[in-house]
Amino acid sequence: MSLDTEFERVSLPLENAFTISRGTQTAAENVVVRVTDDAGMTGVGGAAPSTHYGETADTVAAVMPDLLDVVERVGDPHAVREIETELRAVVNGNPAARCAVSIAVHDLAAKRLGVPLHRLWGLDPSDAPKTSFTVGLDETDRVREKAADAVAAGHDVLKLKLGTDRDRELVDAVREAAPDARLRVDANEAWTPKEAVAKSAWLADRDVEFVEQPVSADDPEGLRYVYERSELPIAADESCVTAADVPAIADRCDIANLKLMKAGSLSEARRVIAAARAHGLEVMCGCMIESNASIAATAQLAPLLDYADIDGSLLLDDDPYEGIDLPDGEIRLADQDRSGTGARPASE
Ligand SMILES: [Mg+2]
Repeated sequence: MSLDTEFERVSLPLENAFTISRGTQTAAENVVVRVTDDAGMTGVGGAAPSTHYGETADTVAAVMPDLLDVVERVGDPHAVREIETELRAVVNGNPAARCAVSIAVHDLAAKRLGVPLHRLWGLDPSDAPKTSFTVGLDETDRVREKAADAVAAGHDVLKLKLGTDRDRELVDAVREAAPDARLRVDANEAWTPKEAVAKSAWLADRDVEFVEQPVSADDPEGLRYVYERSELPIAADESCVTAADVPAIADRCDIANLKLMKAGSLSEARRVIAAARAHGLEVMCGCMIESNASIAATAQLAPLLDYADIDGSLLLDDDPYEGIDLPDGEIRLADQDRSGTGARPASE
């Protein structure tokens, strides 16, 4: 068997500029990878690099030829373990770049076997939780409108970005527009530990479900301080990158929030989940702003999750790939009629 590989950069404009406590983005620079076997069957994967983890589309494109050489040299999409191990040997870090290759190889392997990826893993598609829809930071009136639009579009699980001096105003605005929605908040490391404890108590009165990454990932003792005093459960995102981080956060949070683009492969994502479960944590999976070339793969993990936040493609103005349907935030894996991750070109 031999495998052909290729990659391309795709610039994906967002429907609305997206702001979190660290900054604003108006487009997502993704890299799409394709791996094709002798029979002409193609697996697709995507990288959504994050500067927070040291990656850009440039760094992904720079290492991709070396990563794809590994795939061609191994030459067998079912040798996932060997390929992922070799990818780690070729580059340090670069998790989004490696993950794009991991996804494409998994997609092709499952396609060759004629099954959706979650079936290959033995998962029950009816176990998938709903995904949240994220409302980014903005002027208060815009935040209210965005929340109302999301509810009108059928979403009843919202995630609100916080981390400014208008946090209370923004939560009140969302609660006006979406009084019945399940609501989570994400401070993206912006609060001090004392501020986080006070805000958590205030948010608990607004029927918020949990608080994501209240304090800096560089402040593990601050995270413990918040966890021990917070009225709401605490999710660790920036503090939880790979499975090796899980033991250190286990007594500092309630929920481990993984992302494929942090973990670096689908196998590592499943190891994060297993490690979190072993430490008694609940599990959430988030995403970057991503095409369905990678979101479809994240959706395959949904039956293993307590909370899903996989709206990355929904925030795009136009996605060149289709993936798993998310009507009203429901992750419709049970309806998946395609083998592999379910990602395919939108024109197909
Ligand atoms: Mg987060």
